Amino acid sequence: MPFDLTSRLAERRAADLYRQRPLLQTPQGPEVVVDGQPLLAFCSNDYLGLANHPEVRAAFNVGIERWGVGGGASHLVIGHSAPHHELEEALAAFTGRPRALLFSTGYMANLAAVTALVGQGDTVLEDRLNHASLLDAGLLSGARFSRYLHNDANSLASRLAKAQGNTLVVTDGVFSMDGDCADLPALCATAKQHGAWLMVDDAHGFGPLGAHGGGVVEHYQLSIEDVPVLVGTLGKAFGTAGAFVAGSDELIETLIQFARPYIYTTSQPPAVACASLKSLQLLQGETWRREHLQALIKQFRHGAEQLGLTLMPSDTPIQPIVVGESGHALRLAAHLREQGVLVGAIRPPTVPAGSARLRVTLSAAHSSAQVDRLLSALDIAWRALRQECEHA
Ligand code: PMP
Repeated sequence: MPFDLTSRLAERRAADLYRQRPLLQTPQGPEVVVDGQPLLAFCSNDYLGLANHPEVRAAFNVGIERWGVGGGASHLVIGHSAPHHELEEALAAFTGRPRALLFSTGYMANLAAVTALVGQGDTVLEDRLNHASLLDAGLLSGARFSRYLHNDANSLASRLAKAQGNTLVVTDGVFSMDGDCADLPALCATAKQHGAWLMVDDAHGFGPLGAHGGGVVEHYQLSIEDVPVLVGTLGKAFGTAGAFVAGSDELIETLIQFARPYIYTTSQPPAVACASLKSLQLLQGETWRREHLQALIKQFRHGAEQLGLTLMPSDTPIQPIVVGESGHALRLAAHLREQGVLVGAIRPPTVPAGSARLRVTLSAAHSSAQVDRLLSALDIAWRALRQECEHA
C-alpha cells in the first residue's frame, strides 16, 4: 500500500491540525451565514470593506457587459485587454513606480518575481516568517536559499556576508500571521550595503497603511532604489482578485520575458480588472475607511489588553491572540462560535509549533459596537477555556 492516505489524515486529525473549510452562504461582510449559522465574522482580509461595495460591483457588471467573462488566453497571446493595461498604468502611478505587471493571484506574482530574478549560482534570503508563497518561490528558484531571523537586520547581514551571485532579500511588508510590519529602513540599508535587491510583498499593507493606502513602503517613504521589487495583492484590501509587481521598466520586461507563472497562464477576467480600477479609486479617495479602521484597531487592542489576552506588537488590522497549543486555539474558536462570533484558529505548519493562535482581522466594514461584541465574546470564551484547562 504505497499511498496510505488514511493514516496520514488520521495523524493530522489526532494532532489537532486537521483543516476544514467553513461554507460561506452570504457575500463577504461582517454579518455572514456560515454552515447555516448566522455569525459575526472577524477573519476576512477585506480590510477596507470594498469586496461588496456597490460601486465596485457596478464596475464589475459594466466590465462583463463590455468585455465578457473569460480572459481568453495568456497575456502574451491575446489575453492582455485594455482594462488590464489601464489597471497596470494606474497601479504604477499609485505605487510611484514606472511600471506594474498584473497577475491572477499573489501566489503566482511571488513565484514569478523570485524565479525570474534568481537561479542557480545566486542567493535568496528570506525572513523566516515570510508567507508560504515567498518561501516556495525561494525553494523553486534553485538559488541558495536561507532564512534570517524574523525582522532582524543583523541576522540578514551575517547571511549577506556569505551570499553568492545576484542576491535577493525578500520580506513580507506586513507579516500575515503576526500583523507586525517589516523594519524596512533597516533591511533596506543592510541589503544596499551588500549590493543586494530588496523585494517586499505588501499584500496586507496596501490599503490599510500609508497616508494614501500605499502600504508600508509609502509609510516609510521608500523609493524604487530602496525597494526595487514591490508586490501587492488585490484580493485583500482591494476586495477583488489578483496581484501586481511594481518596479522599473527593465524589471517588468524581465518578468514578461522570463517569468513562467506569468507566461504560461490565462489572464484574469478583464471585468475583474475593471472592478479593481474602481477599488483603487475608492481605496485612495475614501480616507475615512483607513481612519475608522485605525480607531477599531485601537479599540480592540485596548479592550483585549484589559481582558489579559496576549497580543502581538501590531497596529495593523491583523491582531493575533497567541494561545500556544493547537487544541486550545480550536477550543477558543469553538467557544466564540457558540456565541455567534467567527474567528480563524491558525495552527502549525502555518505558524511555528507552539504558537497556535486566533487570528482576529478587523475591517472598515465593522462597527465599533461589533468590536465590543467580539470583546465580550472573547471574555466569555477565554474564561471557559481557562476553566477547562484547570479541570483537565
Ligand atoms: N502574500 C501574502 C503575504 C499573503 O498573505 C497572501 C495570501 N494570504 C499571498 C501573498 C497570496 O495572495 P493571493 O491570495 O492573491 O494568492
